[in-house]
Amino acid sequence: AKAGGRNGVVLFEAAMLDEAQHKLAIARELAQAFENGELGMHLQLQVDRHGAPAGAELLMRWQRADGTMVRPDLFIPVAESSGMIVALGQWVLRQACAAWLALNQAGHPMPLSINVSPLQFRQPDFVEQVRAILAETGAPARELIFEVTEGLLIEDIGQTITRMHELAALGIRFSIDDFGTGYSSLAYLKKMPLYEVKIDKSFMQDIPQDLSGTAIVQSILSMAGHLGLRVVAEGIETEAQARYLAGHGADMQGFLYHRPMPLAQLIERLDSADLA
Ligand code: C2E
Ligand code: CA
Ligand code: CA
Ligand code: CA
Repeated sequence: AKAGGRNGVVLFEAAMLDEAQHKLAIARELAQAFENGELGMHLQLQVDRHGAPAGAELLMRWQRADGTMVRPDLFIPVAESSGMIVALGQWVLRQACAAWLALNQAGHPMPLSINVSPLQFRQPDFVEQVRAILAETGAPARELIFEVTEGLLIEDIGQTITRMHELAALGIRFSIDDFGTGYSSLAYLKKMPLYEVKIDKSFMQDIPQDLSGTAIVQSILSMAGHLGLRVVAEGIETEAQARYLAGHGADMQGFLYHRPMPLAQLIERLDSADLA
């Protein structure tokens, strides 16, 4: 039994080492991929309650040289723990500015949302970085929405709120992503310069048949209404979900309407919708 226990410990350590080595391997591959230009962006259109385009979210994509795709759920957490998300985040912001200018040029100006990781947000010179990228690209801050998660509110709330106000002064708008899944208190929400909340897609499965799930969505909608916030419901896959959310005045993002796609394809789609 003693030997078995020891073996158990050895196996456990081996598994942890394996996991750590696996992450390190991905981190190295990701750094290489970034240098080699294997990272790209897709954009997913959001629609208003009439189905008309109301903005788009940029989502990072990693396509290996052999054509296989690596899911963001796999590489974003690794980029966070290796610190690489800071460089990636700056690159995403530049991509967003360029995408906005291209959409504007094509006659389809619309607000663009980007995901900002807590580590990136907490960089001492983050506000300066944003200011510099805006100046360099000439994209209007008013057209950018920074999606942050409730995780940002766990530490240093005072600092977080101060920084949000500094960015808001530049014109940046803020959204709380995956709203309802984390920790947030109404008291803090009121102090933040918020523009919108995004209802997490995990709640959409329940709409409209499950009463308690629907009650959560209902309460988020009513809270947002009281605070005067835009609501974007993500993960809309069915007509029934769309009817319910549109009926409550929410904007929507989901496969029912538009999948994430490259910028060129998005512009084509918007052009052909104009002709229709
Ligand atoms: P997220 O910010 O919550 O992004 C929404 C995710 O939902 C995207 O997954 C999108 O493709 C997916 N989605 C959209 N509509 C539907 C739908 O109708 N049904 C379902 N089942 N899914 C839908 P994706 O692109 O795989 O990204 C996963 C996560 O990776 C994102 O979740 C975000 O947390 C992170 N991520 C992606 N790009 C970036 C980035 O540039 N920076 C940072 N920091 N994180 C990013
Ligand atoms: Ca997001
Ligand atoms: Ca989300
Ligand atoms: Ca999410």
